Parts: sequence; C-alpha cells; structure tokens
Amino acid sequence: MSLERDSHLVPPASASSFAWLVTMFMFFWITHAVLAAWALTPDAAAFSPQDSDNEPDPKPRVVLPDESAFKPSKADGRGTVRVKPDVFKVSSPVTIEYEFTVASTGIAVGGGVTMSVSRFWFWTPAQTRWPDQPGYTTVKCSRNDVKLEVAADVANSVLVVRVAGDKPLAAADTLTIVYGDTQGGQHPTARGRSDRYAERGERFFFKVDGDGDGFFVPLENQAMFRVEAKEAGRLLAYAPAQATTGEPFEITIATVDQTYNRVESFVGTVNIEPVGDGVAVAKTARFDPGDRGAIRVRVTCSQDGVARLKVADPKGRLREAVTNPTVVAAAKHRRYTLYWGDLQIHSNLSDGTGSAEDIYDYARDVAGLDLAALTDHDHWGYRPLDTDPKTWQHILKVTADYHRPGSFVTFPAYEWTNWTYGHRHVLFRHEHEATIFSWQSPQSDHPEKLWKLLGDRDCMTISHHTGGGPMPTFWKYMNPKFETVVEVASVHGVSEVMGHPRCICSPVASGMVQSALARGYRLGMIGSGDAHDGHPGLGSPGRRAGLAGIYAKELTRDAIFEALRARRVYATTGCRAILRFHMGLAKMGSVAHLDDPNDERTFSLIVLGDAPIRSVTIVKNNEPKVTVPGTGAFATLEWTDTDPGSGGDYYYARIEQEDGEWIWSSPIWIE
Ligand SMILES: [Zn+2]
Ligand SMILES: [Zn+2]
Repeated sequence: MSLERDSHLVPPASASSFAWLVTMFMFFWITHAVLAAWALTPDAAAFSPQDSDNEPDPKPRVVLPDESAFKPSKADGRGTVRVKPDVFKVSSPVTIEYEFTVASTGIAVGGGVTMSVSRFWFWTPAQTRWPDQPGYTTVKCSRNDVKLEVAADVANSVLVVRVAGDKPLAAADTLTIVYGDTQGGQHPTARGRSDRYAERGERFFFKVDGDGDGFFVPLENQAMFRVEAKEAGRLLAYAPAQATTGEPFEITIATVDQTYNRVESFVGTVNIEPVGDGVAVAKTARFDPGDRGAIRVRVTCSQDGVARLKVADPKGRLREAVTNPTVVAAAKHRRYTLYWGDLQIHSNLSDGTGSAEDIYDYARDVAGLDLAALTDHDHWGYRPLDTDPKTWQHILKVTADYHRPGSFVTFPAYEWTNWTYGHRHVLFRHEHEATIFSWQSPQSDHPEKLWKLLGDRDCMTISHHTGGGPMPTFWKYMNPKFETVVEVASVHGVSEVMGHPRCICSPVASGMVQSALARGYRLGMIGSGDAHDGHPGLGSPGRRAGLAGIYAKELTRDAIFEALRARRVYATTGCRAILRFHMGLAKMGSVAHLDDPNDERTFSLIVLGDAPIRSVTIVKNNEPKVTVPGTGAFATLEWTDTDPGSGGDYYYARIEQEDGEWIWSSPIWIE
C-alpha cells in the first residue's frame, strides 16, 4: 500500500497546510522588518470598504482529509509506548528512545505504527536515510522473523513502520524506535534538535493500524516528556494597571531564558528599586526552589501618581526589567478598573506549546495578566478536540481550577477554525454551557449556523486575524448579539487597515477592521496573542503580539463579559499603555446620542505609554483627522470636530509608541 493513498496517515491537519502555516509565520517575521520601514499609508487611499459580498468559494482554504470512509477495527490504536529520557532542554541536540509494545490484538501484515515527530515547534523531522544527519531514526523489532518496512515522510514529519513479509506482530512484541540515533556515539551529528519552547506534556504522537486496512488510530495514552528552558537570561516584571493609594498590590517577577521560556530551576536574589517617590517595597526579593522561577512582591504607594519598579540581578547576569505603569489613585475616583487580558492562546492540546496548566501558569505568574482564555482549535492538531471529548473535559476542568474571581479570571473557550469564512474564538461564561460546535460539522460550518447553535448560551464570538493571513474574515456575516469586539492585533500582525506598518501578512482590504466598521458594525477593539509558543501575554523577544485592555467593574467573569459587551476595551500590540478616550460622558465603545448631529463633538484622550509616545491620531470614519506628536511617555489630545457630518459617524484613536508598539481605542459612535 503506497503512502500516497493513505491520506489518513497524515495527521488531521494536512502537511501542506502546516508547512504553509509555518511559512506564513516565518514570512511575517522576516517581512516585518521591511514592512515596519514603510510609512503608514493614508487610510483613505488604501481603504476600499467592501470588495464584494459574493459568497466565498465554499472550498475551504485548507482542506483536511476526509476520514469518514474508514472504520477503525478493535486492533487499531492498541499498544503501549514508553519514552526515555523524559526531560530535554529546548533547542538542543537530543536522542529519544521509544519502546512500543504490541497489544494482545497484535498487528497484522500490512498494518503498522506511525510516529509523528511534533510539528510544534521546530523539531528536526525524523529521517532514515543519512546516518550522520540530524534526526536519523532507527527501528528494531524484538523478533527476527518479522519483516518491517520503515519509511520517513520528512515533509509530514511522520515515521511509518509497516509489517511486511508474511508474519504478523504478536502480543508483547516490541519495536524500539530511536530518534537521533548516534549508533553508540559513532554519529553524534545524528541527534535531532528539540523544540524551541519549554513545556510539559510534549510527545511524539503514535498511531496504530492493527488489522492492516490502512486506517491508523491514535494510542489512547501517549508517552509524554518535558522540554525545559535553557539558563536564565532575563527578568520579566509586570504590575497591575491600577492600584489604590495606600493599599498594597502585587507585582510579578519571573526569570526566563533568551526565548522567554520560564526558567523553573532559577534560585537567587534580585534587587527592586522604585522609579519615583512614595513607593514602599522590599529592596530585594528571593527566588526559592519551590517558586519555579516566578514570584510575587508586595508594593504600597503612599501617594497618587504613576508607579514603576526596576528589577535587576545584583550579579548583572540577567537582563533587567521595569514594570509597566501602574496608575495609583484613591479608590473613590475609580468606577472601572483596567485589567490586562489575553483572550486567544493555544496549547499543545491543539497546535501550540505547553499543557493547559502551563498556559495558565505562564499567563498568571510570568506575564502577570489579570485574565486569559485558552482557545484551542476545534479541529486542528494531532487529536482534534471535536473528536476527543476527554481532552475537552480536561480543558474545562483546568480552566475552572485556575479561575479565581478577584485575582485571575479564565474563560472556557475554543477556536472555531473555519477556513472558508474566517476564524472566530468562542468564549463562554460558564463551563456547563461550553460545547464545541466544530467548523468541520455540516451543522456548524457557517457563521450563521454557529450563532444559531450557540442560541441562548451566555457566550461571545471574536473574529481574529481578520485582515489576512492565515485566514481573513468574510465580513458579510456578523451577529451583534455574539460579536461586540474584534481582535485587531495578534502575533499574526495588525488587521486595522491596509498598509499599516505592522500589517498582517497577505492583507485583504475587505477583511480589515475598518471594512467591518464601514459596514456599520459596532465592534470594540482588542488585541490578543494567538500565541502558539506557550508565552501568552508576551510573545518572544521582538515578537510582541497583542493584549486587551478592559475597563471592568471588578475582576470576575460577569464583569469582564459586561465590559466586552459594552466595548469598554482597547487593543495594543502587546504593550501595556494606559488609554482613556471619550467624548464628554461617552466613553470609548459607547454610542453617543446627540439631539442634533451638529452638536459639538469634542474628544479627549489621555495616554500613558510604557515607552515614549511617537504620535496620537484621531480617526473619523476611517480617515485620520488629527495627529499630534508625543512628548515622552504621556500624551493628551483634545479635539473638536468642526465638520460634524451626520449620525452614524464613528471616531477612534490610534497611538504609536517610539518602540513601534501600537494602541487603538474602541470607537465612539454618534447616533
Ligand atoms: Zn485563527
Ligand atoms: Zn488561534
């Protein structure tokens, strides 16, 4: 049986699509530097509101293999697998030995085992041809009379072992598969290179075809290992956006390696120094072994103002960090509190890095976020969630376990990965209402069908990477009951407008957020990471992604949902600048009702960057109306529109920091 015929040999997300996705990632990061050099094209020139409302080609951009014709047999997916060693360092040469033991059902002639070297992220694929080249993999059988055929499908990162000849494999027979086999040290260059990102629960995925019909089924229990960070290279420190004068708050301090992986083994002392007066904090803080490389330190500010703290290694080995700005004021002046969130993250339960626990640990303890949502794909990855209720239940349980109203809020969520109409992540308020309606199901393969099925559940959908790669949004469909915000910035880039210096790759004018606004959709703006590297809220060095600033009454699921629905939110490319934008009493995200459209419209903006501000712009109906340069980290702008048009106008603010980070307010609409 040829490999080509066995589409199901290819892990569910097809090889070409993964290669394409990786290429897209690479493309974005390579071209980013070039794009950043472009001046921002004037919006009006670049903007074409609606290209077309014609239905998109119903053939998805990414076509997954159809497995419906195959029926698994009792012998499929059986057997056990062990791995050694079970801990590796990131980006290091490794030899990994798997022992696969055949189950009582045996493996018939024509059947076999596949081992997929993880595609997430940057493992050397297994190869069987060149003993001195990385990833060289050997297979030995415990029996001499069984003939095996071994082939490495390097493009798909799959090793295929088939029983050839005329003798089957029987119960308790073993296969020893050595990835990066140096053959007793003869070929040290044969070792494979490990994942770039630290995580628990990483595995090479095993599938078994027991009866030889060509249908491979994943093993129920895969052999997991752990990928550890390299040595600590830098400190990270984050603080809440707001605090109350005289009341203690906590900052997070963590140690990471040069790729931002958490260094759990770090032990040592760091110095803490307030930037400015009136801040009470211990001069040093200590990392003990049980801290797993992340600690919290108490800070109290005795006076109103902006607090920032510098954290440094007394020995000078680690790159120092300064916390993001914290605005300190009396509680009575605060109706809403600003919270930092990342509402789109992937774990190794689909195509990302890290266990669900790793993701929430990192979001809370390293990135110092107030809220996070793990949004693994409905149908993408080695064992798609829509076919794996156990894993979905696990995600719901972990999400509930990490949810702590008042300190760290999580949401049960998944990503509806529709390759025809665009991707949307679905956020639920309650675990008991959280169901995966998959884009692969004919019942939920269209946005209207999805919203119909979501029905009365307390949930939201959020369109993301709307303006281009990997998949733009087809904005003909929008449902204001479910969709009140849009993700304008993520690791994929910016979807605000064509020609943005950090524009998403493969940009499509009709998918841009401005296109949605021009259709009259009332969408607030948020950023989120769409991180696949296990670093929610951060991204890796030079790869900041996206964050959501959310003004909520308190840190609870209810209050965050209320704020998202009221669009009391703004987007950043990952920086933690503090933004206020309003027209009189109308805050960002709201609809201002004017008795007469000619009534005065005066907008006020205050921004406090976490780096100096380069410029502040107010955009009206997608056209920039006023731009002022910043002076330092603080900028204000008051602007009256002397040419008010009609009802239906909308205004939003766009800010650029000197360090190339961007901030967008949600619009204010006039009615
Ligand atoms: Zn997506
Ligand atoms: Zn995603």
